[in-house]
Amino acid sequence: MAAPWREPDRSTWSDSSARAVLQLMVESVAELVGFEVAALSVVLGEELVTLAYTGPEEHRAYLEESDPVSVIEPLLARAVTWGPRLRWLEGMPLAELEGHWVEFEQVPTDRPDAWRSDDGLLAVLNNDDGTVVGILSVDRPVSGCRPDERQRSLLERYAAQAERAVLTLFEREALLEQVARAESARHLIRSASRPTLGSLEDVLRHTHGQLVASFGARGSWLHVFQPDGPGVSVVRDETGEQAELSPGIIELVAKVAPDLWAEQRPLVLDADSLREKVPSWLRERVDRRGVTTVLGVALGVGEECVGFMALSRGADQPSWSPVEVTSAQQIGHDLGAALMTARALERERRLVAELQQIDDYRSQLVATLSHELRTPLTVISGNLELLGESALDEGARRYHDAMARGADRMRMVVDDLLLLARVSNPDHPLVRVRVDLRSITREVVSLVESTARSKGVALAVDLGRDPVDVPGDAVELDRLVGNLVSNAVKYTPADGSVSVSLRRSGDSVVLAVTDTGIGISADDQKGLFRAFFRTTNPDALREAGTGLGLAIVATIVDRHLGRVEVASQLGAGSTFTVTLPAA
Ligand code: ADP
Repeated sequence: MAAPWREPDRSTWSDSSARAVLQLMVESVAELVGFEVAALSVVLGEELVTLAYTGPEEHRAYLEESDPVSVIEPLLARAVTWGPRLRWLEGMPLAELEGHWVEFEQVPTDRPDAWRSDDGLLAVLNNDDGTVVGILSVDRPVSGCRPDERQRSLLERYAAQAERAVLTLFEREALLEQVARAESARHLIRSASRPTLGSLEDVLRHTHGQLVASFGARGSWLHVFQPDGPGVSVVRDETGEQAELSPGIIELVAKVAPDLWAEQRPLVLDADSLREKVPSWLRERVDRRGVTTVLGVALGVGEECVGFMALSRGADQPSWSPVEVTSAQQIGHDLGAALMTARALERERRLVAELQQIDDYRSQLVATLSHELRTPLTVISGNLELLGESALDEGARRYHDAMARGADRMRMVVDDLLLLARVSNPDHPLVRVRVDLRSITREVVSLVESTARSKGVALAVDLGRDPVDVPGDAVELDRLVGNLVSNAVKYTPADGSVSVSLRRSGDSVVLAVTDTGIGISADDQKGLFRAFFRTTNPDALREAGTGLGLAIVATIVDRHLGRVEVASQLGAGSTFTVTLPAA
């Protein structure tokens, strides 16, 4: 007999309120119909379990042991039908029921309708499909006689009530199970959607354990289709061991899954359908793994079928209950959405990795090129210097000076490019040591002092009295401060002023470089830290520059886990503020 519910969770049934209802029922039956013994047993999976009993205490323990469901059939085969549920068994026991039947002693009477100790009276409780869900039995009539018409009809009425009670409890059990499944499914989906999980394969691997546990499955197979590849599969047995996937099976589900998804139909294969419907090459593999039943659902979102999920069970496990099938289909939706996201993320990750590769290549190219340029540039500069020392006529001197300026500018670009490549190189990590930013800043200021003075730009400095230590690279920090201070002087016309201040603020160090120079428009501020960016301001373009200085600043600040901000107004001046973690 196939029970329509899965192996029961005894904890639900031993739940006191559920049992109390049944207990009250058998006590009422016994008392009101006139029997000393009444018992109610329900079919749970493959067992017939007595959940309520009233009668002599010495029999309680025996009755509470469960019997196999198979005892019901021979019992009913022998019984005389007395009503829709009521069955009369005259002169028990049957040999098959040896060990599953209690004979209650009767006080002998000599009446012709005396109840004999091997007589039995029971009511069969069915569900809507006619499947037996329980047995209500009575024994030891108080009168000592077989039941009369009144007792029979009363018992029939009680049996109907008991049937309803049992079915309600089963529904409640199914509901509780569904709630539990839904809960574990939600957990499953929640963890599958965690962005911290890496690849699609990681998501699948992570999901497997949850699936197998919440379905009590023997193994699981999760497959995600990929538009541009063979897809990703994870097949596991219950221990979590990676199992081998039958070749050809992916093609098979690629054909079946979209239809299952479109029709919202589960694929339930029991032992028979596995034998009849599955191709022989696949059946052999399934058999070898001891799989006797499979539940498969398509995974998807909206119209799109994203993948397929299959759960398997062995001969020692029950078949899939309707509740489980529904839950699996629900998971098909939720997991489908999670996998779609994971798949999109993976594609994005791949693209980012490709872009990163291109970017690395570009940086490498720039670095190599700059290195290659540097040597001939040194030769050119050296020779120009020598040439400059010799006596040149006026025309030749002009050519010489123009070439020297060009070579200087080229060297500036090459040096900046090399520095940018170095600080952007992930293979060249930052080595942090304790560096006094105050002495670095003082050094930088002293180097630009003469330029500022000759331009007529006032330079004010407030660095405090004590060292201001930060963890970092002294050379890089020197370039950071150098670029900001020299820009401030460069982009401030005569009679303007530049002030540099350094202070500690909590766990941070704040360097501010303020000028009363040409300022930067709001529009230009957006691209300021991009390599080769120069503002559109003609006043700025008059100054020699590479457009690399602020890109270097931003990269160095980033490497030092700090931040840089700019506040500026066109024509009024700018303030660049760098905040770095203090040592
Ligand atoms: P450059 O070598 O051109 O100075 P930077 O990357 O250092 O390159 O600066 C980029 C652009 O930002 C400059 O070309 C300039 O237009 C603008 N800029 C930088 N600092 C200032 C400043 N203090 N005042 C006004 N404009 C500035």
